[in-house]
Amino acid sequence: MFKSQALPEFLATIDNDKCIRCKRCIQNCGWSVYEWSGERVLIDSSKCVKCLRCYHYCPVEAIQILDNPTKYKENSSWTFNNIKNLKRQAETGGMPLSGMGCSLPYPILFDSLLLDACQVTNPSIDPLREPMELRTYLGKKPNKVEVERGKDGKLKLKTKMPPRIELSAPFIFSPMSFGAISLNAQKVLAMAAKECGIVMNTGEGGFHEDLKPYSKSVMVQVASGRFGVNPEYLNAGVAVEIKIGQGAKPGIGGHLPGEKIPLQVAKTRMIPVGTDAISPAPQHDIYSIEDLRQLIYAIKEATGYKPVSVKIATVHNVAAIASGIVRAGADIVYLDGFRGGTGAAPSVIRDNLGIPIEHALAAVDDRLRQEGIRNEASVVAAGGIRSAADAAKAIALGADAVAIGTAALMTMGCTVCGKCYTGNCSWGITTQRPELTARLDPEVYGQRLVNLITAWKHELQEILGALGVNAVESLRGSRERLRGVGLDDNILDILGVKPAGR
Ligand code: SF4
Ligand code: SF4
Repeated sequence: MFKSQALPEFLATIDNDKCIRCKRCIQNCGWSVYEWSGERVLIDSSKCVKCLRCYHYCPVEAIQILDNPTKYKENSSWTFNNIKNLKRQAETGGMPLSGMGCSLPYPILFDSLLLDACQVTNPSIDPLREPMELRTYLGKKPNKVEVERGKDGKLKLKTKMPPRIELSAPFIFSPMSFGAISLNAQKVLAMAAKECGIVMNTGEGGFHEDLKPYSKSVMVQVASGRFGVNPEYLNAGVAVEIKIGQGAKPGIGGHLPGEKIPLQVAKTRMIPVGTDAISPAPQHDIYSIEDLRQLIYAIKEATGYKPVSVKIATVHNVAAIASGIVRAGADIVYLDGFRGGTGAAPSVIRDNLGIPIEHALAAVDDRLRQEGIRNEASVVAAGGIRSAADAAKAIALGADAVAIGTAALMTMGCTVCGKCYTGNCSWGITTQRPELTARLDPEVYGQRLVNLITAWKHELQEILGALGVNAVESLRGSRERLRGVGLDDNILDILGVKPAGR
């Protein structure tokens, strides 16, 4: 038999002296790494993706998942992954797929940016004792606000506010469709969004009826496949998003294979069971900003003028595209940076196309300000937000809010193994296998996600307090409060940020 030359990355090991033969590792591994011989557990490490489910559920800590010490001889040009992918392609003739975001070591500019802090002349604020406003509105902002005195003598808002989404903090959950993730994973997002006063996004897979109790915390998405789209769907949430592109796979469409389309997914997407769900690369009715404008206004008409978001992948001319989107009437521009996650993408696309969110955000904010249309729409930054600090830096670079995707999945157990496209996720997240999805209890994991958002809110308040501002709105686009460390003049110029020390 031909033995694959693609070395396994990981070695699953069991200490047979500790092992009590409970077989939980066999039940827990979605990738069938373990098998029962009748006497002990047999291991096929070539299937292990290091999702660590078995490690966490082994009651006697008998399992270790090690990096394979046997490596190809690497050099600066030929890394382990280069060699392994090439060997696989030589064996299969196929295009390697990946889940999650780019794994190549491009610089992450958030890690080279530092925020300011108050010292002597302007006081910092103690967020534990003084009010600190994190409330954020997504949508068009009026250039001025007028108030008038009512008959009862109290002041009232005179300006009619445009349609907008109210968030308790500048966070939303990234779009993730039913089909790409399990219904229980969507429920975790919906429950946490409701509890936290923010919104989740259905992605392109339709709106499952189990999400109805959370409809005030849901944004629905219209993508090129138009899965599940009808007037009821458009009105199912608080806003509608038109997906033009995705950071992890700019310029290409989506493909959910038929084996990931069981009855519930098929019903929700309004397609036959077991058929491939293909989202074409382009929206076949959008070939210009004018076409986009027509769709935006068709959706507004159909929904009684709910806010419309347009999601794009960040590419070289993102600033001009964002300007066109705002002029087409969008209320929100959702920028998805190239580090953004996905359920499945060709690795070559995921790792080599697009631009980072930091550059894109600064360029878009600049352009919209120069054109005097910055308040015509909100900007959401996505694709690489790992912490409250990243969120604060993104807001200082020009975002109104940030989208949280991979970080939210991590609260459900995800270890970013990147094998979502196989449909075998041991944690029950990116799978439709009933025995795996049943593991993800929406109550338990919903609370973990609420905890994460609560922690990030506290951290963001601490950051704002240190900066001496009492509302997150005051930080938006405030690049003077950022300094770059080790960044060259060109990058600093694009970001509109001074070097540390100036
Ligand atoms: S794939 Fe996950 S559950 Fe299976 S052996 Fe590897 S770490 Fe354990
Ligand atoms: S969702 Fe599951 S398969 Fe995807 S990266 Fe996370 S643990 Fe791996």
